[in-house]
Amino acid sequence: MSNVRYLELARQQKKTEGVLELALLPRLEQALRELGVDDAQALSAVSVVYQMQGLPPRYFGDTQLPMLSLAMQTTLPLICQRCFAPLPQALDAQFEFAICDEPPEALLEDEDVDWLEAGAESGIESLVEDELLMALPIAVMHEEECTPLQKSSGEKPNPFAVLKNLKLDK
Ligand SMILES: [Zn+2]
Repeated sequence: MSNVRYLELARQQKKTEGVLELALLPRLEQALRELGVDDAQALSAVSVVYQMQGLPPRYFGDTQLPMLSLAMQTTLPLICQRCFAPLPQALDAQFEFAICDEPPEALLEDEDVDWLEAGAESGIESLVEDELLMALPIAVMHEEECTPLQKSSGEKPNPFAVLKNLKLDK
């Protein structure tokens, strides 16, 4: 989807929605992997539901601009950064954009509204991905105390060592 259609969507106050699989969001997949998420099954199950809706135009200073909202819902298979157990995070976020080529001062100062270049070439995947990367919680941990795993220089904890301890407890 191009920005020409963003403008069309905004002007006609139409709605479009869809579902994006993680395969369409390679930068998000990379960010998840960098956070230690390496469960292929959990990664392949990620999908992002989005709704984009044209809103009534809004004034920023003296300039009236076409407006869009973008809402997205997903559950990210994050892991606790202390004990490395899965700790999925539900994300439900909404953003507003004004469409313009040169944002007026009043728009730049508005912290709740971002802007989309009317002439830029980027698809909705890229926009959804940009916003998700900014909203991505990078240091999730269990609220209650969990036991930090002893990790030796990048090595994964050995599951057999855990089994051995269990047997000793008997
Ligand atoms: Zn934990």
